[in-house]
Amino acid sequence: MFNNSQENGRAGQRCKVNKHLIIAGHIIGASLYQFRSQLLAWYEARARELPWRKNRDPYRVWLSEIMLQQTRVAAVVEHYHEFQRRFPDVKKLSAAREASVLAAWSGLGYYRRARMLHAAARIVAQKHGGKFPRTAQELRMLPGIGRYTAAAIASIAFGEPVAVVDGNVERVIQRITGNPLRGEKLWTEANGWLDRQRPGDFNQAMMELGAVVCTPRAPACLTCPVVHLCATRGELATGKKAAPRKKREAHYALNYRTNGRGCEVFLKRRSIQSSLMAGMWELPEIDDLSQVRSGGNAEPCLTVRHSITVTDYTVRVWRTSAPRSKGKWIPVEGLNNMALTGLARKILRKAGVIP
Ligand code: SF4
Repeated sequence: MFNNSQENGRAGQRCKVNKHLIIAGHIIGASLYQFRSQLLAWYEARARELPWRKNRDPYRVWLSEIMLQQTRVAAVVEHYHEFQRRFPDVKKLSAAREASVLAAWSGLGYYRRARMLHAAARIVAQKHGGKFPRTAQELRMLPGIGRYTAAAIASIAFGEPVAVVDGNVERVIQRITGNPLRGEKLWTEANGWLDRQRPGDFNQAMMELGAVVCTPRAPACLTCPVVHLCATRGELATGKKAAPRKKREAHYALNYRTNGRGCEVFLKRRSIQSSLMAGMWELPEIDDLSQVRSGGNAEPCLTVRHSITVTDYTVRVWRTSAPRSKGKWIPVEGLNNMALTGLARKILRKAGVIP
């Protein structure tokens, strides 16, 4: 681990070492000061402008951290503003109906996160008077907040000196040390590297470096602010293999009509006991394609691609009523406020049913 006897500014006058020193996978001594100051200077100059970085309001930080779990930054940016508009603070979120929260979450996937977010908002509003706990330890008592998320909120919003370890930080540490550290050793290492004067910025800088420079494939070492301190300067063989992706095909029925009440679309609600996307609305799935084909439908009306965890789906949509499907006619103008699955929203958009 970095030697913390040389903390930050106090070590400035000793910072004459211009080559890195790595012993048993750990950068030590003055290199620690260099690493922190160069990483932070790079972050200040180059950090992406992201909506949740505008201030350190714990509600905004918390919301972004939950949304970013297993979701691309671009997708989160798309949903973040709208979610904020509907639920601008923790009290508004706690008072909302679950269906409204799920509707605003629609398209981000992993809906359990939205339910946990809602449950945590209620606890913050009811037990903490609308104020977030300030330490990582207390934050971990809230639903949906694990070790990483608690450390991210506590350091960014409240300046608590706790390090985060996510996939990006793990990769950066492993490459810089040249050591495939894992588990508790990795957390210990990250805590040793942390800038205790600016823990929130430092944590974000580490994650930013991993996200935009020290990427999983083909890291941009030539533009890396800490290249001279890095033992690997490229990909490190960690022995980790990406999970193989599966391919599947699925078929859904798209059925809409226009009557005196305007345009309506036929949807069905997923079981409330379902382990995935419980209680959300989707198009009826077609189990037996032969019935659709025998009804005169030779070709699907559209095809979309959709990925869930490690499975890539090719989804064929048929303009038909789904045989024996239980469901409900839903007015199109009400769809925006419904908890639609991401796939249903994608299909309805592509079909031009919703904007
Ligand atoms: S030099 Fe390359 S491998 Fe090392 S931290 Fe920078 S981007 Fe990552």
